[in-house]
Amino acid sequence: MSKRYVIGNWKMHGSHAMVDAFSRQLDIASATNVVVAVAPPFPYLGACSALPGDCALAGQDCSAHDSGAHTGEVSAHMLAEWGCQWVIVGHSERRTDLAESDELVAAKLNAAIAAGLTPVLCVGESQAERSAGREEHVIRAQLQAALGDLQRAPLLIAYEPIWAIGTGVTASPEQADSMHAIIRRELVDLLGEGDSVPLLYGGSVKAENAGALFKCPQIDGALVGGASLDGVSFSKIVQAAQASLEQ
Ligand code: PEP
Repeated sequence: MSKRYVIGNWKMHGSHAMVDAFSRQLDIASATNVVVAVAPPFPYLGACSALPGDCALAGQDCSAHDSGAHTGEVSAHMLAEWGCQWVIVGHSERRTDLAESDELVAAKLNAAIAAGLTPVLCVGESQAERSAGREEHVIRAQLQAALGDLQRAPLLIAYEPIWAIGTGVTASPEQADSMHAIIRRELVDLLGEGDSVPLLYGGSVKAENAGALFKCPQIDGALVGGASLDGVSFSKIVQAAQASLEQ
């Protein structure tokens, strides 16, 4: 792929002061072939709408519903009106903390597409599933559940092994690359093609390990949690993505 994608997931972190500092630190203008976005908590989407360097906006989640009596929910249409182009669906923290099922993730993905957003579908196995040698089975099942009814739509997939999220333990480039290859093969079965779907790796990506990950043939970018909270480290990851295209 001639492009890279780097999306920062701020989770439930942030403040107006943090957005100001991030905005001053962001240095991505030279990364002309990297699509960059941040997913701040909803209250800071407005404050993040004018980040420098064409930094786009993503939602961290959306409702499966379009509107109605769903207190606390935010619809994909609202995110689109807020200026989001992307929305994360199926993040493991939501699957775990809020018991989001594969069915609900599929409904959210379809709601996002209907609203004109590009979903970033997260899939990933737990440490117990990997130790039992079930990682491939788990990933295939998550993809089948989310994409079974999909024809063709703009879509990104983030492979995020749960054991690597927020732990400081990153999947090795070989581990990540081989899981991405499995995902591509499954996409061919489900959607008829896999090459045009950007595959992002997520799980303790930092400025120090990003370059090695971006060199992997099957890795098109990164979904970055902790290291996206600081504009300097996030910019270094974006710059590593650009550099990987120039090597
Ligand atoms: C994430 O939350 O999607 C993530 C990858 O987090 P971290 O980079 O902190 O592991």
